[in-house]
Amino acid sequence: MDRSIDVLSLYPKDMNIYGDSGNVLSIRRRLELYGYDVHVHEYNQGDDWPDQVDLILGGGGQDQGQRKIIRDLFKRAERIRALAHDGTPMLMICGMYQLFGDFFETIEGDRLPGIGVLGLHTIGQEERLIGNLVEHSEQFGDIIGYENHSGKTFLHDGTHPLGRVDAPGTGNNGSDGTEGARIHNVIGTYMHGSLLPKNPTVTDFLIRTACEHRYGAFEARVDPACERELARINETARQARTVAMQ
Ligand code: GLN
Repeated sequence: MDRSIDVLSLYPKDMNIYGDSGNVLSIRRRLELYGYDVHVHEYNQGDDWPDQVDLILGGGGQDQGQRKIIRDLFKRAERIRALAHDGTPMLMICGMYQLFGDFFETIEGDRLPGIGVLGLHTIGQEERLIGNLVEHSEQFGDIIGYENHSGKTFLHDGTHPLGRVDAPGTGNNGSDGTEGARIHNVIGTYMHGSLLPKNPTVTDFLIRTACEHRYGAFEARVDPACERELARINETARQARTVAMQ
């Protein structure tokens, strides 16, 4: 049986700050330890879109990075929306999270349209939301990471947050206690970190969903050496999480 999984890294040249490329490395490594053949396709402006896409990962970027990719993103918007609707898992961090909403209005007042996968909009503000972040998610438990954004995001009626934050001045907008958003198997979030190495439950959700979506089932084949490596990776994440939650 074919054991290939095709991961698309969306705009790694322009949208990859605060170590978000670590999410791609984390997905690749964990899938390999589960016994899958992983193909990572880096998609930058003007590239061909691969025939097979099982999982899409997008990172954060500064406003100018977002401006750069927006035209190209709209060329791919219909395909991305169709994949999202069909259940393809996606993880979009910060700048890409904002562009998956309806629009992002920068501090200068430019309105960058989003591709409307997530029902939300974002308004740039002078005060940046910066710092370590812990949120509570019903599905994933505590999620830890780091945020740094000027955009404040407001979820539209019916849009589910990824989680809730306790501390004031953090999360989507610093006031309503929400963080991130979720629709179908698409997760948008402000969590840098990198997010996935520190939050294996989220990594496993993306992996499981990608495998089920392509093959109808997730079937880990883990030999003892890989088992030990998985245990070591999980322990590193556990230690990072303990420190972050103190
Ligand atoms: N430019 C956006 C903002 O500052 C996104 C920043 C980011 O991706 N970290 O709101």
